Amino acid sequence: MPSSRQYVTDAIVLTRFDYAEADRIMTLFTPTHGKLKVIAKGVRRTTSRLGGALEPLAELRVALARGRTFDVVTQVQVNHAWLRLRDSLESAATAWYLAELADRSIEERHAAEGLYALLRRAYELLDESMNPGRVARWYEMHLADELGVRPEVDRCVECDRTLEADERFRWVPPLGGVLCSRCPGPPRELTALSVEALKVLKAYQRLDAEALAGLRLPAAVEAEVEQALRDFLRVSLEREARSLQFLDEIRRG
Ligand SMILES: [Zn+2]
Repeated sequence: MPSSRQYVTDAIVLTRFDYAEADRIMTLFTPTHGKLKVIAKGVRRTTSRLGGALEPLAELRVALARGRTFDVVTQVQVNHAWLRLRDSLESAATAWYLAELADRSIEERHAAEGLYALLRRAYELLDESMNPGRVARWYEMHLADELGVRPEVDRCVECDRTLEADERFRWVPPLGGVLCSRCPGPPRELTALSVEALKVLKAYQRLDAEALAGLRLPAAVEAEVEQALRDFLRVSLEREARSLQFLDEIRRG
């Protein structure tokens, strides 16, 4: 029988860094404990039983023993390796970006089952070779939901009037979504939003991932939606994700 100091959980590695001679300190994302800081002792030795399995971009089943500062990894098993996700540099870089957003959104030892399921599903979609940009937009939109800041795309955020297709819209993340043409809004924060981009934002709220994967969209509209959601999350999470720079470089290259 395992002692009360031990427990087992599903987990996705969010961050890791080398520590001391052969250890590694990691941040794990788990459904019922939220974020966990753990230590894997001796994991960088070639003889380590844990080494090969304790990798990011995979879903693991991890046995842990409660420790004073960090809980200690005692056993690891790979639930899902998502090997195809790692084949493409863009989908791997996207996966790191999604992990960083999750890391920013969860707290230590606070259950985050919805968000865990969201990250897990996004990794599955990347592994199924769905376009990484579409996976990222789908994830960003649902992450906003999980954070309780669902973007308003149906009514004006100021006057609550239903938006009509023939008016000019502005995207105002600090106000939570779309502003109609009649409301003035804060002058510095206003970005024009095309009716096509607004439709795509609505699609990201309403359609499932498979339907989104099949949409045919002009590149300019995809770029507009990407910028809109990026701005929205930067405001919601109070700064831009660091991993976006790397992702952008890969996509340019
Ligand atoms: Zn209005």
